[in-house]
Formats: sequence, structure tokens, C-alpha cells
Amino acid sequence: MEIKIVKTVNPKDKPEEDSLIFGVEFTDYMFEMDYTEGVGWHDAVIKPYGPIEIMPSAMVLHYAQEVFEGLKAYKTPSGEVQLFRPDENFKRMNRSNARMCIPQIDEVFLLEALKALVKMDESWIPKSPGTSLYIRPFVFATDPFIGVRVSKRYKFMIIMSPVGSYYKGGMVPSRIYVESEYARTVRGGTGEAKCGGNYAGGLAAQEKVHEMGFEQILWLDGEKRQYIEEVGTSNVFFLIDGVFVTPSLEGTILNGITRKSVIELLKHWGETVEERRITIDELYEAYQQGKIAEAFATGTAAVISPIGTLGWKDTEMTFNDGKIGKYSQKIYDTLYDVQTGNLADPL
Ligand code: PMP
Repeated sequence: MEIKIVKTVNPKDKPEEDSLIFGVEFTDYMFEMDYTEGVGWHDAVIKPYGPIEIMPSAMVLHYAQEVFEGLKAYKTPSGEVQLFRPDENFKRMNRSNARMCIPQIDEVFLLEALKALVKMDESWIPKSPGTSLYIRPFVFATDPFIGVRVSKRYKFMIIMSPVGSYYKGGMVPSRIYVESEYARTVRGGTGEAKCGGNYAGGLAAQEKVHEMGFEQILWLDGEKRQYIEEVGTSNVFFLIDGVFVTPSLEGTILNGITRKSVIELLKHWGETVEERRITIDELYEAYQQGKIAEAFATGTAAVISPIGTLGWKDTEMTFNDGKIGKYSQKIYDTLYDVQTGNLADPL
């Protein structure tokens, strides 16, 4: 498919690199293409970032048939543009699409489209340490119909936003609360899909833990509230008795690209990694026995986020004296250097 290019006549002023706020400013351009049943994907275009028109009856606004992705572009020391494993994002998007009855996208074509878009907005990629260009591909149902069924029309878009350093003042261990009232998903649900509804459903728990003085939620499984699943919008790892343990992918957890990279990196370093089900009771017991050396969350936004404190019911577990663990720092430094082109990918 040809990509039509519409040039902007009003390039925007760029924000200062030291005052970038996540998700507020967007670049000059966006990518858009449409899907119509019987025709397939069509009308691919890169055009100036701006409002889109959909009908108030567009199905996504009513029944949330929608999927999104998140990845970053970085400037390397030699000024080249580098994406971190973008093919994995489009692969995951197609898995999410399958779950949400959204048509498959052409991963190869979209990677080319993404590269073309990033090239046009290259001057928007910030250069200061820790900064990057956040990329948000998303697809949603546009059929103007308010009956519940699979939509026959969709819009796929990519928008991009320059983001500042997640760790401006250095890495800070977080305070996380183990949520045993609300659930994110259940087996057979949509937990493995990156669909907007999962996040809307999580907001009440997020508000609750913020009020309690915690930053994020540790989600337990939706059935027994026993098995550890994820931390907020990140995957989670615990270093227990010299072994890295992360919850196995049972269909309820997002298959994180950072998670996969961390597992591969740890194995490359000769460490033992177990992907298995782990209960909060097992974790608490190991904690009481002094067996937990480190806990950290993994995701595109922060790469690694060390967990300092884990609140559970009326107790609090503190890992590594609330300080940044040796591995948290080492994994962060390595992945960050690979992402920004300061280190050849060891994998
Ligand atoms: N879990 C959830 C629910 C998420 O939204 C994310 C962020 N995409 C992750 C885990 C981490 O995934 P990734 O490493 O691919 O960013």
C-alpha cells in the first residue's frame, strides 16, 4: 500500500527538553489508515497531527472495541534514530486484535510506516539523557452503529509524544499496594490483550491506592486473589533465594516486551529465571524468612522500577532496605544503554 504524505504548513514550536511531561505534547505528524469490511486496510496517510472526525455512534465509544501499543524511539550518540524491538509491538498488537475481533494488521508494512513517520518527525526526538519519543499505535471500531456486534470499519493510527526522563533525580524505589478488592482480569478475560477497557477498569483501584499513599497496585488473580499477576502497567520480578521469579503468562497478564528482554538478559548473564505461578502467601513467607533480595517492575515507561515497599492488608514488606537493588540497577543500565545505542545488544 502507498502511503500518502500531507506536509504541515504550520510546524509547531517544540517544548523544552527539561520540562517534558508524559503524553501532553504531540509531534507535527500522525499516521492514519482505515479498514472497511470487504476492502481491507486502505487510505494510508501521514498527515499533520490534529483532530479526527467520527460519528457519535462510532462503536468504540460505546463498546470499547479498541487496542493500543506503546514503544519508544531514541537518538543514539551518533545521532541515529533507534527503535527498541518494534516488531514485537506489532506482533503483540495482532494478538490483541485477535482477542478483540479486530482485523489483523500487516506488521511489515506498519513497521515501514512507523519508520517513515518517525523520520518525518525526527527533529522531535529529544536528545537529553533519559528522554525519548513515545510512540502510540492504536486501532478502534468506527462503524456508526450502536448494536453490540463486531464492527465492520476501523481506524488505525500512530501518534507520537516527546517524553522526559522517568528518573530525573535518579531511580527511586516505589511504594506498591497489593490489591485484594478489585481485580484487573480473570482467566478467559482480556488481560493478555492491550485493550483500553482493561485500563478503565483499573482506575478505581489506582485512585484507591493513591489515597492510601501508594503509587501503584500489585494485581492478584481475579478468581482466588492469591496469585501475583502484575504491578500497575508493568510486569513484576522477585529475586527469591538467588532465583528470579516472575509470574507465568496464563492469559491474564500482558506479555511485556521489557519482561521478555529482562528474562533473556538474566539468562544471558547465567542467572536462573523461573516463570511460574507465585502466590502472595508464598511471597510473604519468603519475605519473613529474609529470602527476598530484590523486587522490581518492568515496562516501556520506566524500563525498571525497583519496588521499595509492598503494602499488603495491614502489613508492609520492605525489600533491600527500601534501596535500589544491585540487579535493578544493572538491568536498567544495560537495557537503557542498548535502547539508546550506547551498548551493542548482547542478545
Ligand atoms: N503490563 C501492562 C498491563 C502494561 O500496560 C504494560 C505496558 N505496555 C506492561 C505490562 C509492560 O509491557 P512492556 O514491557 O511491553 O511495556
